Amino acid sequence: MKKRVFAGIRATGRLHLGNYLGAVKGMLQLQDNPQYEALYMVADVHTITTPYNVQGLRINRREAIVDYLAAGLDPKKSILFLQAQVPEHAELAFYFGSVTTIARMQHLPTFKDKVKQYPHDVTMALLNYPLLMAADILLYKAGLVPVGIDQEPHLEVAREIARKMNQEYGMNFPEPVRFATKGSYIPSLNGEGKMSKTVEGSFINLTDSVDVIRKKVRSVPTATTSGGEMNPGVKTLFAFADLFIPNELNKYKKEYENGTLQFVTLKDAIADAIYKDLQPFQEKRNEIIKNQEYIDQVIKEGAEKARSIASQTVMEVKEKMGLS
Ligand code: ATP
Ligand code: MG
Repeated sequence: MKKRVFAGIRATGRLHLGNYLGAVKGMLQLQDNPQYEALYMVADVHTITTPYNVQGLRINRREAIVDYLAAGLDPKKSILFLQAQVPEHAELAFYFGSVTTIARMQHLPTFKDKVKQYPHDVTMALLNYPLLMAADILLYKAGLVPVGIDQEPHLEVAREIARKMNQEYGMNFPEPVRFATKGSYIPSLNGEGKMSKTVEGSFINLTDSVDVIRKKVRSVPTATTSGGEMNPGVKTLFAFADLFIPNELNKYKKEYENGTLQFVTLKDAIADAIYKDLQPFQEKRNEIIKNQEYIDQVIKEGAEKARSIASQTVMEVKEKMGLS
């Protein structure tokens, strides 16, 4: 049997550079490796763990599938699906709750970050986020997970749950590990934390025009003087330079060190390189949205394929836990 790969992206907005470099690039690489069977999900159920807008979610979950297709994920090679269409995710997450303590969930750095972001919306759904993610992965007994470094604490939880389920109930869950890419951590444009869909002013979307990208990169806070210790904004710029204009990185670094760097020149060079990288994605996306029936068909077939695997795992878990 082929080894399984699983990854998901929340339907909280359009995909950004962090999602692309930290997750989608790895997803593409594994999809093209014949050793693996890949399942790539739009995590629409995960979206309701933080405040959201109903109509926005309806649109975003479909748009996320379009983004997947435009990025090169191929329904002939991978199973592309919407989480809400496979109810086994929520079901298995509930069962996993019986082998997980509340304290373990409360101490996760990812939970603490979201509590800071939404202090008035600390719901049970948010606390249960890691259980749902463990269910996402283990439903398909996936061993490899192409996600950004911010998800590592959740993967650790998934491994613990796999071990507990194996020990206590005789399941055969693999302990999933992260598949890393070079862009595992893309910093926010505002110089604080990571680029995130739900943090305004932090991201560059894959669909942004060259003008918008220029404006956004120019907004990265940089001091007027250069040389010496880099401030967070300058560090962010150099992280982008390393990813998008690696051949010019040393030149700009030298200029920074000897105090001759014009930040606007560096910013525009980065912005233009980012846009050039995104152009094929944008062109393909414009083609795909002309064929809405194709998108419907991809979503329908993906759900059927995912469910046929997921239902078997849930049946097995219920049997071993004394629920059937
Ligand atoms: P949200 O603000 O809704 O949590 P997000 O931008 O964090 O959105 P997710 O949907 O949570 O995106 O994550 C989707 C994938 O993208 C995950 O694999 C995650 O690790 C990866 N990812 C998210 N942000 C970054 C980033 N800044 N750098 C690298 N990878 C990232
Ligand atoms: Mg996130």
